[in-house]
Amino acid sequence: MKIGILSRNRRLYSTNSLVTAAEARGHEVRVINYVKCSMNITSHRPQIFLGADALEGFDAVIPRIGASQTFFGTAVVRQFEMMGVYSLNESVAISRSRDKLRSLQLLARRGVGLPVTGFARDPEATGHLIKMCGGAPLVIKLLEGTQGMGVVLAETNKAAESVIEAFRGLDANILVQEFIAEAKGADIRCFVIGDKVVAAIKRQGAEGEFRSNLHRGGHASVIKITPEERSAATRAARIMGLNVAGVDLLRANHGPVVMEVNSSPGLEGIETATGKDVAGQIIQFIEKNAPLGKTRTRGKG
Ligand code: ADP
Ligand code: MG
Repeated sequence: MKIGILSRNRRLYSTNSLVTAAEARGHEVRVINYVKCSMNITSHRPQIFLGADALEGFDAVIPRIGASQTFFGTAVVRQFEMMGVYSLNESVAISRSRDKLRSLQLLARRGVGLPVTGFARDPEATGHLIKMCGGAPLVIKLLEGTQGMGVVLAETNKAAESVIEAFRGLDANILVQEFIAEAKGADIRCFVIGDKVVAAIKRQGAEGEFRSNLHRGGHASVIKITPEERSAATRAARIMGLNVAGVDLLRANHGPVVMEVNSSPGLEGIETATGKDVAGQIIQFIEKNAPLGKTRTRGKG
């Protein structure tokens, strides 16, 4: 097959790992710096160019869209879909997962366990918002933050109010969330491919840090997850419409709660900690599904 990897940098661990896995299985691979693409949006023969070079003949693309490039990146993915190219994750699903509020609403609708979460805009609603989420300690997060940036723990109601006001002053959209203290600074990253969790790691935040992100100095180790956690992770990925997802869970007293669903989950932490060939499994999934032309939306939505 001819596989395109939409990534800005072929030296990134995840991109490199996917290239190696695809080539090892006999595929032709091209890393496409999607931010440099231009698109011809026409109904008869939609096209994508890199410079003057038309990108043609691809059987599948693997989107690795950076958080800061969601708008343009998903437009490129959608264009590939319009051309009938199978995308490992569809553009609509990527857009959904990038908005924490939209994701949580979709998951809540289907009864997935979540931390109590509130959203409001009016400054006069702040008091009610804090009360609704059970009062301090509370987590306040930017809707489109990533890698732990823009996630703040407010230990008192007063602190929560100030943080909410500060974010509002910057015109940023935020969520307020119950703090799951019993998770003790750790979360579980479940790597989902299709309807299976193929690998799971526990990420423990650095000393004195409630955020477990590896980018914030967190440490990864192998973990055995429960059937309940497995099912929460696969359901969350399915509801988001993602074939490949990193589903982050917290172990709350009342069971697993989903914190977020990542559409371009990193491979380094999970492959290194578990020793599993996750990239190889992604390529196998594409081999099985791309030929069926299973891109459902064809750029719709
Ligand atoms: P990001 O997209 O920036 O990674 P997250 O929502 O995943 O934002 O939050 C970053 C980290 O902060 C999580 O991995 C988790 O360790 C911690 N965290 C986030 N929300 C909560 C919460 N409600 N209770 C406890 N810890 C949380
Ligand atoms: Mg996260």
